[in-house]
Amino acid sequence: MDFLTSLLMENATFVVGAFIVAVVLVPYLMSQKKKSKKVRVKISEAQKFGLYEPATIHPKVNKAICIGSGACITACPEQEILGKVNNQAEPIYASRCVGHGACARACPVGAIELVFGTEKRGVDLPQVFPNFESNVKRLFIAGELGGMGLIKNAILQGKEAVDYSFEDFRGAPYNRPADMVDLVVVGAGPAGMSAALQAKFLKMKFLLLDQEESFGGAILSYPRAKVVMTRPADVPMYGKIKVGTLSKEELVALWKNIVEKTGLEINTGEKALSIENTGEAFNVKTSNRNISTRYVLLTTGRRGTPRKLGVPGEQLPKVMYRLLEPEHHENQKILVVGGGDSAVEAAVAFSCQKGTNVSLSYRGPAFGRIKADNQKRLDNLVAGKKVALMMESNVKEIKTDSVTIEQKGNVREYPNDSVFVFAGGNLPNEFLRACGVSMDTHHGESRPR
Ligand SMILES: Cc1cc2nc3c(=O)[nH]c(=O)nc-3n(C[C@H](O)[C@H](O)[C@H](O)COP(=O)(O)OP(=O)(O)OC[C@H]3O[C@@H](n4cnc5c(N)ncnc54)[C@H](O)[C@@H]3O)c2cc1C
Repeated sequence: MDFLTSLLMENATFVVGAFIVAVVLVPYLMSQKKKSKKVRVKISEAQKFGLYEPATIHPKVNKAICIGSGACITACPEQEILGKVNNQAEPIYASRCVGHGACARACPVGAIELVFGTEKRGVDLPQVFPNFESNVKRLFIAGELGGMGLIKNAILQGKEAVDYSFEDFRGAPYNRPADMVDLVVVGAGPAGMSAALQAKFLKMKFLLLDQEESFGGAILSYPRAKVVMTRPADVPMYGKIKVGTLSKEELVALWKNIVEKTGLEINTGEKALSIENTGEAFNVKTSNRNISTRYVLLTTGRRGTPRKLGVPGEQLPKVMYRLLEPEHHENQKILVVGGGDSAVEAAVAFSCQKGTNVSLSYRGPAFGRIKADNQKRLDNLVAGKKVALMMESNVKEIKTDSVTIEQKGNVREYPNDSVFVFAGGNLPNEFLRACGVSMDTHHGESRPR
């Protein structure tokens, strides 16, 4: 045995250790560093597009116990809500969270909790008792409006809320005048549909309203190919909706089938404008009439009522009122309408996607109220011909593959794939407060139920 061999044998542990460090650990650490860098870039993109601060429910990572298993990232059915930075989970596009909760269930050390709001951005949620009644007697709240997302939760809550109101109704009989109903359900999303079906089952005299010309709720107005049901749901008078992935068209067909089979009547195109408590009853003022009712169930979701342009073709599915997944619009001709930060952030987000052709239309002569950062970004994009700015312009008509815009007296038709309107509107919280419902502000706390 020569000198070198005996030296190597004597220091075998050191040599093996050095080999592992050189061949395994160093490349691993380098790849982790690279991955962290990529995630950080995505986080700053999400911040730039206004998609980082979540509007409602989202995962909060306890860094003291996160072991970086990545199970939360794999389990989440949505894209890029969480990523890994320095081997720990970190929110990226937190505003995309719809509350599946799969991340929290998958975490092996319980480091994830679903919470509402952040320290920076508080979220106001209505105070709701365990029977879904608000502080206003006989006014109930269910589904996403109460804070809890997901189709399955909405279906369950809608049914349960009606069961509780029925209990109250049976316990306190009243003389119902002929022109009065027992219950008005406002909003025909999953919660409202399920609630109305339960009311039908219980033979209550009820009305179900929705401000849109269609029914089925929020999810149908987003550019979303797939809907994931992570848990089964039981629809009153219909039966089970199984776990799995549905296309948006399948979900629409499912709700239509439920309505046909059960004979549920829905008053579409009827918006609840105000709810006045008259003591014994409520007077629900809608866009069509005044309704007198003993009970009200609000299942309006949290999207509110976006202000519409009121032009022909606005009901087309390519017209949207919220930005969620800009990358779904690669290679599209996109028109953004509006003059506030949301409109500018959306235009910036779309201009960063591959092959997009983005125009921003605003009826005013200048953006008077946007953040300085947004103005700067927009100026750069306009100078680089990444965004076409159309000041003092108005959309006149929307067709499947074009939009007609009037600008300073000239009317022109432009090819178009998607229209995003950010013209303000009414938030559900304003409506709730006007009804007398008390609210709590959440700054990152979880909520029971
Ligand atoms: C992009 C996206 C993806 C999602 N993906 C999934 C998923 O994969 N799986 C899942 O389970 N969940 C998903 N969700 C969440 C799910 O869509 C919601 O949690 C669910 O629709 C909530 O149901 P809801 O009945 O409470 O309210 P909504 O579905 O919001 O329905 C509320 C209804 O009330 C109506 N309304 C509002 N105001 C009034 C008024 N004043 N008068 C009359 N009508 C009114 C609205 O027009 C609407 O039809 C997703 C949500 C989004 C935005």
